[in-house]
Amino acid sequence: MMPIQLNVSTMLERAELLFPRKTVISRTLHQVHRLTYKEIGERTRRLSSMLAKLGVEPGDRVGTFGWNHHRHLEAYFAVPGLGAVIHMINIRLSPEHIVYIINHAQDKVLLVDEDLLPLFEKLKDHLPTVKAYIVMSDSTEVASSSLEPLYSYEALLAEGDPKFQFKKDIDEYSPAGLCFTSATTGNPKGVEYTHRALVLHSLAIGLADTLALSESDVCMPVVPMFHVNAWGLPYAATWFGSSQVLPGPRFTPEILAELIAGEKVTVTAGVPTIWLGLYNVLSQGRYDTGSLRAVVCGGSAAPVSLIRSYEDKLGIPFYHAYGMTETTPLVTVARLKSYQENLSREEQLELRAKQGVLVPGLEMRVLGANGDVKWDGQEMGELLLRGPWIAKEYYKDDTSAHVFDDGWLHTGDIATVDPEGFIKLVDRTKDLIKSGGEWISSVDLENAIIDHEAVFEAAVVAVPSEQWAERPVACVVLKEEYKGRVAKEDILNFIAPKFPKWWLPDDVIFMDEIPKTSVGKFLKRKLREQLKYHLTKPV
Ligand code: ADP
Repeated sequence: MMPIQLNVSTMLERAELLFPRKTVISRTLHQVHRLTYKEIGERTRRLSSMLAKLGVEPGDRVGTFGWNHHRHLEAYFAVPGLGAVIHMINIRLSPEHIVYIINHAQDKVLLVDEDLLPLFEKLKDHLPTVKAYIVMSDSTEVASSSLEPLYSYEALLAEGDPKFQFKKDIDEYSPAGLCFTSATTGNPKGVEYTHRALVLHSLAIGLADTLALSESDVCMPVVPMFHVNAWGLPYAATWFGSSQVLPGPRFTPEILAELIAGEKVTVTAGVPTIWLGLYNVLSQGRYDTGSLRAVVCGGSAAPVSLIRSYEDKLGIPFYHAYGMTETTPLVTVARLKSYQENLSREEQLELRAKQGVLVPGLEMRVLGANGDVKWDGQEMGELLLRGPWIAKEYYKDDTSAHVFDDGWLHTGDIATVDPEGFIKLVDRTKDLIKSGGEWISSVDLENAIIDHEAVFEAAVVAVPSEQWAERPVACVVLKEEYKGRVAKEDILNFIAPKFPKWWLPDDVIFMDEIPKTSVGKFLKRKLREQLKYHLTKPV
């Protein structure tokens, strides 16, 4: 067969050639834009040509700092189209981490959303590698700013070449994208995505047994474009000619509901917190969501109650998926096998609340204290992964080389595997609770607690115990209408039938809010810190 190199820009070229009339709907600060793939293609070529004029060369990094919108999508293709690397910067990182990753990546040019620009005025003196800033806004004017030199995205595009040719002879193993993990500990770690990884990952998203993304879909990635390539959806959707809806800056659940109903979105993807918020709006019945064929939920565990709410109360199919920055990210999707359709609804939900089955193309091991675990749904071990879209190292950083020992990615996720191959994450290695030499899964306890009708959110963390080393303590946020009306015992009695006695939390603490990371995951480190002396008194 032909030794054709896989290349990100060929995905856009297919959309230009075969789907020029299909549209991208993009919400920005001031309006909702509708662009065809023909227009997106020309604008992307214009952007590539102007980046080249600004001195971007193959291998250089170009940073983006923006929400989900068409300009960000154009940069997704324009930068790799030059053989350069798009570095999607997480806008929710701390200023110190933003400075660290821009310097570590040595970004040459930064594309920044207009509402996020003021942040860079404060950081600019710490960013020696950045040679130019481009403000992404609807205007061709540049607001007065201390950033130098500062260009208007639209003014640059007006000057650009709509027929610019993307670079052809790119080695498929060369990098096209770069994302940093959101760092719950230490400095963020970079993961470089090769052209090959992004193309093969897009294929995986299109498979019928994964997300089955296709031309007939209207795909709305709610997951940010600065977080693991918006789970690869913008690349795959463009390649397949799906319509795309990019929800833009500072959206609310109401805005998402309007976009779903107005644009007839069929597939959308995001973290559980987004879907919890949206459920509260959709359950009021004001929006027509009949077009939705899949709400994809990942990034943290999807509680079974959330799956049940969407499917049984709203009639919207809800899919649980799992992955991480290091895996581009798609690793598993929880879809039933054909013969599992005969199971009872409760048995099916139990399976579908697991992280699911490995997608084609990847290999896994689950490694316990005594080697590979038994596939009995009981024995716990660390999930190891290998495959063409799994990272083999961190970007210019060997402080965590053990993560890639023996040619496998050690995910740091503790899992069980059932006899059907369904993976269930029971914890992060660092969040497992080690009580009296045994492991307790904080995730299992959280899922059980969240099933209580009064509970909005729950996080269970290990708290030091003199007798047992660690014991679980549950932090619970009640729904508004239940505040003050539910006691600790109600929660403990509710979950007691599901667990051995020694698994039950030693305490339940009601809180107004659970601290979260920049991407909306529970910040358990902070909870552990707050509760350090909860069960023992400080000496
Ligand atoms: P971070 O930068 O915080 O690592 P990632 O998105 O890369 O952000 O996070 C990956 C981690 O998120 C996984 O290792 C896993 O612990 C958790 N995660 C992702 N998806 C799921 C899921 N469906 N269920 C439970 N945990 C998940």
